[in-house]
Amino acid sequence: MKQKTIGVIGGGLGGLSAAISLAHNPAHKVILLEKNAHLGGKLNVVSKDGFTFDLGPSILTMPHLFEQLFAMHNRKMADYVAIEPVRPHWRNFFEDGKIVDLTADPGEMTGEPSCLTDEEVEELRGFLRYSQQLYQFSDQTYFQNQSEKTLDVLKYYNPLKILRDCDFFSTMDDGVRKRIHNPYLIDILNYFAKYVGSSPYDAPAILNLLPYIQWEFDLWYVQGGMYNLARGLERLIHDLGIEVRKDTEVTEMQREGDVITALVLQDGSKVVVDLVVSNMEVIPFYERISREPNARIEPYRKKYGPACSGFALHLGVNRQYDILRHHNFFYSKNPQKQFHSIFHAKTLYDDPCIYLVAPMKTDPAQGPEGCEVIKILPHIPVLDKDTPFTDHDYAQYKEAVLSKLERMGLEGLRASIVTEELWTPATIQAHYYSNQGAIYGIVSDKKKNKGFKTPKHSAFYHNLYFVGGSVNPGGGMPMVVLSGQQVVDQIYQNKRFMAL
Ligand SMILES: Cc1cc2nc3c(=O)[nH]c(=O)nc-3n(C[C@H](O)[C@H](O)[C@H](O)COP(=O)(O)OP(=O)(O)OC[C@H]3O[C@@H](n4cnc5c(N)ncnc54)[C@H](O)[C@@H]3O)c2cc1C
Repeated sequence: MKQKTIGVIGGGLGGLSAAISLAHNPAHKVILLEKNAHLGGKLNVVSKDGFTFDLGPSILTMPHLFEQLFAMHNRKMADYVAIEPVRPHWRNFFEDGKIVDLTADPGEMTGEPSCLTDEEVEELRGFLRYSQQLYQFSDQTYFQNQSEKTLDVLKYYNPLKILRDCDFFSTMDDGVRKRIHNPYLIDILNYFAKYVGSSPYDAPAILNLLPYIQWEFDLWYVQGGMYNLARGLERLIHDLGIEVRKDTEVTEMQREGDVITALVLQDGSKVVVDLVVSNMEVIPFYERISREPNARIEPYRKKYGPACSGFALHLGVNRQYDILRHHNFFYSKNPQKQFHSIFHAKTLYDDPCIYLVAPMKTDPAQGPEGCEVIKILPHIPVLDKDTPFTDHDYAQYKEAVLSKLERMGLEGLRASIVTEELWTPATIQAHYYSNQGAIYGIVSDKKKNKGFKTPKHSAFYHNLYFVGGSVNPGGGMPMVVLSGQQVVDQIYQNKRFMAL
């Protein structure tokens, strides 16, 4: 049998998923090329002074999408990586001292500390029914049938029901406010936009499917640290005999017309290919690898701009905070102003909503006894040549964030720091080549793209496909893993490739 060579650029979760899914067919010879020394991309880790810092994702949802990667090769995920549910899901802190725990069973939120009334819990349950309807719409059109644009949806969904079932005319915030009256719950439900690095005031209401996903599929921690998920997938890749070259950057490509014939590596050597799957994002690929003229890239920049970036500050502290849970959110007094600062004004707002992870609440082995790992991740604007931030800006921002946390209950935080690791948008961009240092791929914006990301099949090269956060179904670990599985079906529909 003549094997066809498929070059996968990048070993992030999207690239790993594509490589594993493609290797299912013995006619494919898959070669995975990763510029960094580790696999997993943004799922990354560093150890420092006895503390382990997961540098990327901290929340795992929809683990069944990961299980599929193992099951398609007749293996069990549990033999490679162990996961456990986190309780409560999130703890939410407000400036007036109110604490609301988001529990796995909404019924438990009537008790301490959330203290919602029975009516408020009923409203939340009603919201979750709406969220489920949005999920079912997306599942049919987007997850199972791979709609890549609005018109595709008509092929897979009853046109008479579309406007109602996806709450077409609303933003996320509209959809929340129509159904919820408790002001704390409004902020919390709006903050699910975090999962896609977007603003609830700009994102289409379809993204209100996120709370249903969290409640239905639960929220998980990877035992031993999130990076063990990448280690598990690497072991699977190894067991399947897929060729992996780390420390190998693709810098150029060779082409004949609309066909990519070879990938050129940084040492000048070539990998001859029949097809390419790029886990490098769409815009960076067209800028750096195929080097398209600006006029070709500009429409993508307008429609598919980057999601937010993050100010990822990892602290090792020599004390513990009883008030924290594994996942914590410290809200802004003015969320509207905060989201405006990230996506429109492009400024560093001094009262951000701060996402704080304290993984030692679940896994004490992540740091020395009596200590705490504290990862702080407020969302901030992506790199922008018109509004560059200086080291001084970031230093001021860091002070604002730490003093907000001290004010809201983490007394003595600054004095207890024994080690730290800071990743800014520039660090993120340099490590993963994401567009402008975005952490979730493409922004979900009702006006710009209605929540759609770039289609997976390149408009310029017949044998080029993309996976990961810059294509449908979008950013976040489960979605990029799904993109790697979905791309195989699209490749099978490529008659020119199949005829080779
Ligand atoms: C701080 C942070 C917190 C997050 N929190 C969460 C969370 O809690 N839950 C969640 O689900 N998601 C979270 N995310 C988002 C999640 O990490 C991403 O959506 C997902 O991991 C992206 O996977 P990807 O495959 O699309 O891209 P990446 O992980 O960026 O992978 C792309 C890979 O391609 C490689 N590459 C790029 N160019 C080249 C080249 N020219 N040659 C060779 N290799 C190349 C890169 O090195 C990288 O390994 C977070 C992200 C960050 C940064």
